[in-house]
This record gives sequence, structure tokens and C-alpha cells, in this order.
Amino acid sequence: MTKADLPERIGRLDELAHNLWWSWHPQARDLFRALDYPLWRLSGHNPVKQLHEMSSHKLQAAATDSDFLSLYDSVMSAFDAEMSNGHSWFAIRHPEALHGPAAFFSMEFAIHNSLPIYAGGLGVLAGDMCKEASDLGLPLVGVGFMYPQGYFHQHISAEGWQEEVYEQLDFDEAPINPINPIPRSRWCGPMLQIELGDRPLHVGVWQMRLGRENLYLLCCDVEGNAEQDQQLCARLYSADREQRLQQEIVLGIGGVRALRALGIRPSVWHANEGHTAFMMLERIREEVEQGATFAQALESIQATTVFTTHTPVAAGHDIFPAPLVERYLHNYWESLGIGREEFLELGRQDGTDDGTFNMSVLALKTAGHRNSVSQLHGRVTRRMWQGLWPGVEEAETPISHITNGIHVPTWAAREMSRLYEQHLGPDVSERYDEADLSERLMNIPDEELWSVHQTLKRKLIGAMIERARQCSTERDCTARQVLAMGALLDPNALTIGFVRRFAAYKRPGLIFHDVERLKRIVTDRWHPVQIVFAGKSHPADLPSKELLHDVYALATDRGFEGRIAFVEDYDMHIAHYLVQGVDVWLNTPRRLYEACGTSGMKAALNGVPHLSVRDGWWYEGYNGANGWAIGVDVEAHDPDEDGADAASLYRLLEEQIVPLYYRRDRAGVPHGWVRMIKEVIRSIVPFFCTRRMLKEYIEKMYIPAAQSRE
Ligand SMILES: *Cc1c(COP(=O)(O)O)cnc(C)c1O
Repeated sequence: MTKADLPERIGRLDELAHNLWWSWHPQARDLFRALDYPLWRLSGHNPVKQLHEMSSHKLQAAATDSDFLSLYDSVMSAFDAEMSNGHSWFAIRHPEALHGPAAFFSMEFAIHNSLPIYAGGLGVLAGDMCKEASDLGLPLVGVGFMYPQGYFHQHISAEGWQEEVYEQLDFDEAPINPINPIPRSRWCGPMLQIELGDRPLHVGVWQMRLGRENLYLLCCDVEGNAEQDQQLCARLYSADREQRLQQEIVLGIGGVRALRALGIRPSVWHANEGHTAFMMLERIREEVEQGATFAQALESIQATTVFTTHTPVAAGHDIFPAPLVERYLHNYWESLGIGREEFLELGRQDGTDDGTFNMSVLALKTAGHRNSVSQLHGRVTRRMWQGLWPGVEEAETPISHITNGIHVPTWAAREMSRLYEQHLGPDVSERYDEADLSERLMNIPDEELWSVHQTLKRKLIGAMIERARQCSTERDCTARQVLAMGALLDPNALTIGFVRRFAAYKRPGLIFHDVERLKRIVTDRWHPVQIVFAGKSHPADLPSKELLHDVYALATDRGFEGRIAFVEDYDMHIAHYLVQGVDVWLNTPRRLYEACGTSGMKAALNGVPHLSVRDGWWYEGYNGANGWAIGVDVEAHDPDEDGADAASLYRLLEEQIVPLYYRRDRAGVPHGWVRMIKEVIRSIVPFFCTRRMLKEYIEKMYIPAAQSRE
């Protein structure tokens, strides 16, 4: 199918498919589902692919089906109403506050599974934030990468080892458009050029429409580049330091030039994590070219730049060997009006030369508005970087915090939003961050809430069993693999989810600290417990792969009777099922290692309580009645952190969680548990959402930054 083949009456389906607005608007999703349900599923919910493969016969039929047409008209008019900016929160509340859009730079964006250009939490936050910008009417442009191979797909071998599978994206079926297309193709032509050390590199740009916003995704796979350079941006998070540095030069320097070439004039520039910090240097270079001194240019760029740091551990920051940076940027610092020493100093933590160049330090020194991503992370961050401001007290170190949130329409189960609308009022989706929900929440009948939760749980388990079946029929999986995929899960058993990137600090093995005690909990005849694991290891992180292998081996231990499962290939799609369908969300990071975390917020939105160490967002989210806190608070240090936390976790399960879950009335409804679900929703959703978060960014960072220049 090409655009020209669409019947005129439904001619705008192509436009809708190419604006990912549809992905967080249920009615628009219904429209594509109604168009051709089997293809909708087979395409992985990708309408561009779906339209590409549909027969003209079916399209003609849709164009004359009155039910379909009335849905089509209703979706298109909702779409048009939102695209015209007039009545958005931002337009009403802050008219004229920004004289140009906010530019948001990020190495990854998680928008929808049809574009696998993200690895985890950082990308999900970036994607959620851009969707919220559209909802609130904040003018914003995103700048990132189009990785044709994205991040890998995960398979687990029969021996329990992670295998990485890369798939090449088919651009004909991706919801993006080339800005400068090569004639008669959908491929991207080169649009701008940058210097990569001593050689020129051509960069192409893809555009993604996201509601009212545009994302511009840079691409190195363009004509004129050497073969090796065409592959430079094929994948996200290469472990090769040199390739990473090259990518970051493309993103920072190329990203600014792309916006200039497009004629976009941002009023504020937001660097998401240190990867993007060359963006500030390029803007300094521009001002120096206009006649400013380096010091003047630095001051002016600082004033209009926001930097968000997401990493609480020193080793997590992006650090390059100084000689490597020198090799790639020795031509560049001259154009900034500074010498080698002054340049390398920008990436040095304490003014001492340890031979490294730290991107977070560069960002902290070149951005005048800096924040961390939770209250506790703020404390950790100020302590970590205090040395950059000699003579300033730790508490006065100029790095604030804005706690992360999630985009509610993206993560709420359809069944859950319907329940909210019914009982909290149809305007709840507009006001959930402002309203006091308590009274109306308490009025939802327990039976109804419980029944929605049970439906979502059955959906999760159904999806897992479907995958297990596919694995055995299509991939020749062994019986052990099929068991590990959850073939024996029971929708009536208390189900705990441990779903997150595999990394040592997240302690995925903690719950196995005392295997015999866990077996007793899990295999209890009357009150059984199940655990569902999911998560990827970074391909180069060997210790984490060992950890995954260990967890997998335990999960398939016969002593657990098939009550532990591992879901392969954790991504946004399977994340939806998991955050909506388990009973308890488990999180066991080492204290002070989790900057914020957001998956527990997604679970809370769907009425799933959090069982977690009080790190990251749970330090401020826990109120004593909306979930459980594992172990002691950060202030009380325990030298045997693992032992103490595991003991606390078992005690909570045995004494509180299992009894509360299985305490039922005659109809099988656990009223105590449902009361907790209501408290979870009441106390967490209004604050831990991108709506509250983005309003804070706008009012505390963007507007002050933009107005500093006037
Ligand atoms: C929400 C989400 C994350 C972030 O999870 P945390 O463990 O809370 O940091 C990572 N990956 C995916 C696919 C997600 O949806």
C-alpha cells in the first residue's frame, strides 16, 4: 500500500499512523485494531506496517463501513483539536513565557516498541516526558538517534545464558520520515556535516511526529560516509569507548547543527544525562564565532541550559580517556577560543589531572540549571559533586532535584482507566495531579476493582503461556525453557514481579538468599507464591550475565515446582503486561544506588503495591500504608546489607503480604488488600507522574532559563 492507495474517505490514516499520538490514545488504537485485527497484532501494533501490508479490498471495505467511519471521524477530530494549540495547559498558564521551543537532547527515546531505540529507564523517561509535553502543550523538540539496529532482543538459551539478537529496522515500516529523502526512496539523505577528528562525517535526520511535538533522530548511515562510519550509529550503547565518543560528538554537535539547519530556535536547551554535553560546547562555539570571548559565551550558554543527571554512582558516569578526547576534538577547542589545558579542564572533576574526561563534569560546568531525579538522589548528587564548587557547603551545592514520573496514558491499563473515568469523573485524565482522589476512590466497590485486577493478571499469564507455546513450537525450546517461561503459572496464586535491567546493584538474586526458606514460602500448599523475573543484561556486562544465569538456574530448580518464571526480552511491550498484571512489584537495590526508578510507579498506577528497599523514589513515596519497606532506612547503616534485607523480605512476605493477600470474604474478595490498592493509587499517582514532573521542569527550570536572556 502507498499513501495514494488509501481511499479518500479515510485518506488521513497514513498521517495518523505517522504520528505516535495514536500510541497513547485508546480510541486511536481502537481504530487501527478495528481496521484489521489480525494484521494489527501481527504488525506488533505498528499501524505503518499494518497499512503497508493491507489489501486495498479491505481498505475499501473500511471506507464504506459506517461504524468504522464514525470512529474514524471521532478520532480525527480529537486529533485535530489537540494539534491546534489553543487550550492547552501551557498556552493558558504561561502564554508567551517561552520565545522558542525547549530542545531536549537524549541518547535514547522509548516511545513505542515499533522503534526500538531505547535500552531502559532513561529512554522511557525521555519518551514519557515528550508525550507529556504534547499533552500539556509545551513546545518542545527532541534530539536523539535513529539506530537502525536499536537495542538487542534477548533469548535465553537452554543452558540459561542470554543470547543477543539484533534486527535491522525496515524504514518502510517505521513511523518516521526522512527530512531530506533520497529521491524515489524512503531513505535518509545527508543533511549536514561535522568533523570527527580529522575526517568529515555526513549526518542525516529523521523526523518523528509525537502529538504536537517533533523528534529529530540523527542517522550516520547515509551516502558519502565510509562503510565504517555508516555503521557508527547502528546500535545503542556500544561498549567500545571510541565509538561511544564518536556517537556523542554526533549527538551534541550534530544535534545543534540539525536544529539550526531546520530553522528551529530553542529558548532553552535540556541535556538529558552527560552523554549529550557536547551540545553545550557547540553553542559556545557559535557565540565565539559571533565575536564573544570564551568566558562570555560560557556564561550565556550556562544561563539557557538545563542538565539532568541520572546516575548516583561514580562508575556510572560517562568517562573517556583524555587522549581519546584530544584525538577527536583537538581541532575543535581552537574554535572555542581556548587551548588544550583549558579544554581538558572542563571534564576534570577536582582540577586534578587523572587522564580522564568526564561528561557529567562537562555538563555540570556548562549548564547553569542542574537537577537530580529524586529527593534522595539530590543528596547523593550534591555530596558527589561538592568538589566542583570549592568553599560551598554540601547542602548549598547548586544541584536541585525534580523527582521523575511516568506518563499516565501510556502506562495505565485500558481497563483501569475506564474504571477511573467511571468512578473518579470523566475529567480525571485532565486533573489527576491536582485533585484529591481519596473520597471518590473509596467509593469504587472492592469487587469491581478486584475483578479488573484479576482480568489484568489473567492477561499477563495468558501472554506468558502464549510465548511459552510459541517457544516450543517455533524455536524448538526444551521442556526446561518452556517451564521457565511460565507454563505452570496459576492466575490464583500471589504473584511477585521482579522486572528490571540485570545489574549487580539491583540484587536480582537477593530473594534467593535463603533458598530453603524461599521454597517454603513459594510452595505453600494453601497460600502459594509465584515470582516472575524479566530483564536484560548489557551485552558487555559479563558479571550481570552470570547473575542472570544463576537466577535462571534457580528459577528452573524443580524444588520450586514451576512457580518461578523468567520472561524473555523485557521491553516496553512486555512491561505493559507486567506492571499491570502482577500482584506485588519487588525492588531490591543496594541503598543509594538507585537514582529514582520508575517501574514501581507504573505498577502503582495499575493498583500494584511496591515492596522495596527505601531507595530512589520509594524514599519519598512510602507512607507506611501504601506498600512495604524492606530493611532499614538509609540513615541506619547495616554492615550485612544483603542478609538483613533478605531476612526482612522473608518476614514481610510471611507475616504481612501472604496473609493479607489470602484473607478473603465468601466471594473471594480480599478487602484488606483492595484497601491497600486504593491507598497506593491515592498516594502515588498524583505526584509520581510526568504531569507533575514536567510542570516542575517548566516552572523551575525552563522559564527561568529562557527568560535569563531577555
Ligand atoms: C519503566 C521501564 C524501565 C525503568 O525501570 P526501573 O527499573 O524502575 O528503572 C526500564 N525498562 C523498561 C522497558 C521500562 O518500561
